[in-house]
Amino acid sequence: MKLEIRDLRASIEDKQILNGIDLTLSTGEIHALMGPNGSGKSTLSNVIMGHPSYTVTGGEILLDGKNVLEMATDERARLGLFMAFQYPVEIPGITVGRFLKRAVEIRFDGEAVSSRGFLKGLRADMEFLEIDQQFINRYLNEGFSGGEKKRMEILQMLMLKPSFAVLDETDSGLDIDALKIVARGVNRLRDDSFGALVITHYQRILQHVKPDFVHVMYQGRVVTSGGGELAQTLESQGYDWVREQFGTQEEGEHPGGKSGEATAGPLRLESE
Ligand code: ADP
Ligand code: MG
Repeated sequence: MKLEIRDLRASIEDKQILNGIDLTLSTGEIHALMGPNGSGKSTLSNVIMGHPSYTVTGGEILLDGKNVLEMATDERARLGLFMAFQYPVEIPGITVGRFLKRAVEIRFDGEAVSSRGFLKGLRADMEFLEIDQQFINRYLNEGFSGGEKKRMEILQMLMLKPSFAVLDETDSGLDIDALKIVARGVNRLRDDSFGALVITHYQRILQHVKPDFVHVMYQGRVVTSGGGELAQTLESQGYDWVREQFGTQEEGEHPGGKSGEATAGPLRLESE
């Protein structure tokens, strides 16, 4: 399958954030998307999934030639688009088990899934991601640690078997063991029927999930692309050269320029 993003433009609250994104993903490929805070990476993910707060002001997104922008979010998900949230929300009242069973049923055409078969698959995937089985009966993300929430996103991804997954900074705030587990999940799906856009600040996860392509986003555009070596350049040199070479607006004058966020410095490893 192919996911084509062409000259995509989007705004939120009348602030133009995406200024013409071109990006084509094919199944079988892992793409990394990097770039300073405030570049519009999360905005791009949200627009791919159809978040209602964003207005698409131009361009298109095609999934195997079908116009994704006309589809409701659940339709996109049923067709095989998936997003792991940067900030997963807590949903009290819905257990992990029930949530996943319903989601799997809907993803795979409303087919009733036998409870036994479902549970067996769920248990196996949880074991694979080193998630305690007791989480099946807990409310989704309620009281979960940051790392547990991120692992829960990957569990959903494994169960829903998307054609394209967008992982929005799933690695942020994870210690090295949790990071390896997240990578293990992505690598397990890695084959000709799966593609991913791995959004990250750090080269670290890319040591475990080797990207075929690396793109750098800045001021709402993909400003440069390359292979895995580009991530290493960013790791060692930070984003200053990106700003100098590709910046068209003054800092603080970004589309949507909340300068505090937009000017966050070069790559830093956060404390764990
Ligand atoms: P990134 O994920 O690359 O850090 P974002 O897509 O989160 O970037 O943000 C891009 C810009 O859009 C930022 O300047 C941010 O402040 C602005 N923005 C994002 N969401 C909103 C929102 N809900 N309301 C106002 N501004 C927003
Ligand atoms: Mg973001």
